[in-house]
Amino acid sequence: MDRTSGLFSPALEAVSRDEMRSRFDAQIKKTLRHAYENAPAVKALMDSRNISPSDIKSLDDLHLIPVTPKAELVRMQAENPPFGGLLAVPLSKIRRIFRSPGPISDPQGIDEGWGWEEGLFACGFRPGDVAVNTFSYHMTPAGMMFDDSLGRLECAVIPTGIGDREAQIEILRSYSVTGYVGMASFLLQIGQKAIEMGLDPQKDLCLKAAFSTAEPLPDSLRNSVQDMFGLILRQGYGTADCGCLAYECNLRGGMHLTTRAYVEIVDPLTGKPMPNGETGEVVVTLFNEAYPLIRFGTGDLSAIDESSCGCKRTSPKLRGWLGRADQLVKVKGMFIHPGLVQKAMAEFPDFQKFRAVVTREDNRDYLTLKIETAAPPEKSVVEALKKRLRDHLKIGCEVFACAPDSLPSDSKILDDQRQWD
Ligand SMILES: [Zn+2]
Repeated sequence: MDRTSGLFSPALEAVSRDEMRSRFDAQIKKTLRHAYENAPAVKALMDSRNISPSDIKSLDDLHLIPVTPKAELVRMQAENPPFGGLLAVPLSKIRRIFRSPGPISDPQGIDEGWGWEEGLFACGFRPGDVAVNTFSYHMTPAGMMFDDSLGRLECAVIPTGIGDREAQIEILRSYSVTGYVGMASFLLQIGQKAIEMGLDPQKDLCLKAAFSTAEPLPDSLRNSVQDMFGLILRQGYGTADCGCLAYECNLRGGMHLTTRAYVEIVDPLTGKPMPNGETGEVVVTLFNEAYPLIRFGTGDLSAIDESSCGCKRTSPKLRGWLGRADQLVKVKGMFIHPGLVQKAMAEFPDFQKFRAVVTREDNRDYLTLKIETAAPPEKSVVEALKKRLRDHLKIGCEVFACAPDSLPSDSKILDDQRQWD
C-alpha cells in the first residue's frame, strides 16, 4: 500500500497560492458577515472599533479587527455563559459541547469536524486502516476530534483512550491495528512494554502509521518510535478550540497549514501581522458556522515558511511550536524566545549549560550567549555558534565562555537583565 504519496483532497490542497488567497478572501467575508449578524460578541467588538463587515474587503483588512486572546475568551464565557456571545447558531444546531481547563467551553456544530483528515492522510493513514485512538473521549475534544476525522478517512476506530499499556498491546494484536493516534511519548511507552513482554514490535504488531500531537516531537523521540515499530510517525498542530491548524507531510520540514482556517503570525503586542518568516503569535480565524472564532490568539509562537514543498501541497508551512507568547522578549526590535535559543543550541551538544543574557547600555540592547566550558572554545566554534544563533534569532550576539558551574543553577535560558525606568 502506498502511504507516502497522494493528497486527501487535491481540490483544496493543491490549488495555486493565488487561488488559495482568493478563497480565503471569500471565506473571511462570508464568515465575518455571518458572525456579525449572529454572534452578539463579534458585533459588539466590531461596533466598538467602528468596523462593519463591509470594511473587511480582503485578508489585508483583517488586522483591523483586534485579536481575542484565549484568556479573554475565558473571561467572556465567564461573564456571559456559556459561550460568551460567540455562538452563531441556535442550540438546536449544536452536536456536542466540550469543556477544557480554563474553564473554556467549545461547541461543535452539527456536521462540523476538526479537519485532521488531511493530516492523517499526509501521515500515511489510508481507507481500510484500523486505528487506535488513545486521546481522551471525556470533556475535552481531542478524542472525538480524531474519531471524527478517522471516520471521514474511512478508517475503523478503536476508542482506547489513554491507559493500561498491556491492554493497548492486546488490542493492537487482536485487531491487527495499522494506525495509532495519540502522543508519540505514549506510543514509545507501549513499545517498551511490548519488548518487556518478550514481543518484537515490528514482527508481532503491524503498526504502519502514527500521528502525534499535543506535545513537542524532538527528532530523538521520532526516531526511537519509528525504529522501534518500523512505521511512519508524523505530527500535527492544533488547539481544542480550533481543531487542526497544520500537519507534516511525508517530506517533513515544517507543517502545512490547513485549508479550513486562516492562520496568521502576529506581533503579540500590536496584533499586526509579522513580516514573512518572523516569529510571532499564531492567530486563527475559523470558518465555522456554529462557532466562528475571529482572530483568536492561541498564545502559541511559530513562524510561517512560504517556500514550496515537493509533495504537491501548496499551503505554506508552520515551523512548529516555538513556545508561548508570554515568554517572548523583544531585543533590538525582534522577538526572541527561550525555545529559539534552545533550538539553535541543540546543534552544539558540547555545550550543555548556556544562558542568553539581554542587557541594555546607552539605549542599545545587547545579547550575550554565555556557555560553560572547561577549555576555551576554538574561534571557528564561536563563529559557528554566532551564525546559528543569528539564523534562529535574526539578531547578532556575542559569545562568552565561562568556567564550569559559574552560571546560576536555575534552568533559565533567556535572562532579560534590562532595567526600565
Ligand atoms: Zn509537503
